[in-house]
Amino acid sequence: MKVTEDILEKLKKTLADPKRFLTSEADLYSFSFDASFGMYKPDVVCQPMSSTEVASIVRIANEYLIPLCPRGRGTSLSGGPLPVHGGIVLDFSLWDTKLVIDEENLIATVSPGVITSHINDAANEFGLMYPPDPSSAHVSTIGGNLAENAGGPRGLKYGVTKNYVLGLEIVTADGKIVRTGGQTIKNVTGYDLTKLIVGSEGTLAIITEATLRLIPKPQASLTAMVLFDDIIDAGSAISKVLVSGIMPSKMEIMDQSSIIAVEEYASLGLPVDVEAILLIELDGHPLAIEDEMQRVKSVCMNVGARSVQVAQDKKEEAELWQARKLVSPAIVKLKPTKISEDATIPRSQIPEMFRRLKLIKEKYNIHLVVFGHAGDGNLHPNIITDQRDKEEMRRVEMAVAEIFKAAIDLGGTLSGEHGIGTMKSAFMEMELGVDGLAMMKSIKEAWDPKNILNPGKIFPVKGQRFELRND
Ligand SMILES: Cc1cc2nc3c(=O)[nH]c(=O)nc-3n(C[C@H](O)[C@H](O)[C@H](O)COP(=O)(O)OP(=O)(O)OC[C@H]3O[C@@H](n4cnc5c(N)ncnc54)[C@H](O)[C@@H]3O)c2cc1C
Repeated sequence: MKVTEDILEKLKKTLADPKRFLTSEADLYSFSFDASFGMYKPDVVCQPMSSTEVASIVRIANEYLIPLCPRGRGTSLSGGPLPVHGGIVLDFSLWDTKLVIDEENLIATVSPGVITSHINDAANEFGLMYPPDPSSAHVSTIGGNLAENAGGPRGLKYGVTKNYVLGLEIVTADGKIVRTGGQTIKNVTGYDLTKLIVGSEGTLAIITEATLRLIPKPQASLTAMVLFDDIIDAGSAISKVLVSGIMPSKMEIMDQSSIIAVEEYASLGLPVDVEAILLIELDGHPLAIEDEMQRVKSVCMNVGARSVQVAQDKKEEAELWQARKLVSPAIVKLKPTKISEDATIPRSQIPEMFRRLKLIKEKYNIHLVVFGHAGDGNLHPNIITDQRDKEEMRRVEMAVAEIFKAAIDLGGTLSGEHGIGTMKSAFMEMELGVDGLAMMKSIKEAWDPKNILNPGKIFPVKGQRFELRND
């Protein structure tokens, strides 16, 4: 339904401070995009700072059938917060007022707009850690992380966001405030609604508070940089290290294109003639990780590594990780448009996936760069292009479709952490099948029968094709 002046007036009254109600063209434009593709202007932006404000807004949306798109910091790479059918953007970026660490119970209670890295910083002060570490942790919100079930390099050993959520407060599509889960480590009472909400991309309910599990911070860490002349050997090294009984805290890969891009960007002294770099971090008891690092070294050398360099102190460790951190900023220097995928495969298929990615790169003659969390099979094939070049964009679309197909062929999945949003919905049936997708749709229809919560996400409309357009 059209958002009339009347409805706008009602919405404005839900907020204690009218400054948190935005309708100017400049503001609407600012909330019309995320870190992916497509621009969609909302009719209004509301910036709630309490559950009761959220519930009042949702009740109005429910009554007048207005789309509601929750939004954290808009760093989604899958189009998650885009208001594709207009309506209300619920911006949570101001609501960062609660971040309480309960040291005795090893839990944190947070409001949805808290920046993720702040949770880990606060936990660290008590010798604790909040493990999920998306690369965007210093800019994304916990609400967005929960909705996308975000993960990061530490996912290999510690899992992703859903592994650290004990309970949630949510607002349902008809404006009820409900609590799921609780504060205990074990909780098997009934259906696990908490896990259902995590990863639901704002389509089932709105998250207004979360209770998160913390763990003791490991005593020490060690990092090695391993160089490979052949990227397929790097893939083998990942599997071999894991089956040797060692569980690194991080295992990240950079292919030759990423290495060259970083070197041209920052001159770190990386060898540009290797096909791949593996960065391996071990954490735990200092003596144990010294011993494990020796074994990692011999496993890697046995599968053809050129060399293994272990950082001697924290400064050197930070320098090694700097290379990985700079990949994203470095590659966008090559061409302005970056399509960042997160196709994920079983770890034994990493070498085969690399082989297929090489073929796709050649077939479509595109600039494909691969890096990512190789230890858990979550690769980030990134295509660097220029969206003004329409002909190249068509080739990129075909290449992206083929990357997804390759991942699924190899027993993998469309997304390891970035979610489906608008970007991958066209491929959902390919992974889930008609019946699998219908089961998910039935949950959506039960929770949100009027389809007001983040409509146009996850589920494809009939005949939907994958297109990369910003107009
Ligand atoms: C440089 C860069 C690096 C990145 N690295 C990673 C990475 O390593 N791992 C990873 O997983 N992702 C990564 N991302 C993607 C992105 O940061 C994550 O998806 C993040 O979780 C989004 O958080 P956000 O606060 O920006 O949410 P937004 O982008 O604003 O929203 C994301 C989704 O969450 C929903 N949402 C937001 N808040 C709520 C709420 N309170 N209740 C219900 N739904 C809500 C939105 O509707 C949307 O569907 C990266 C992005 C960038 C730009």
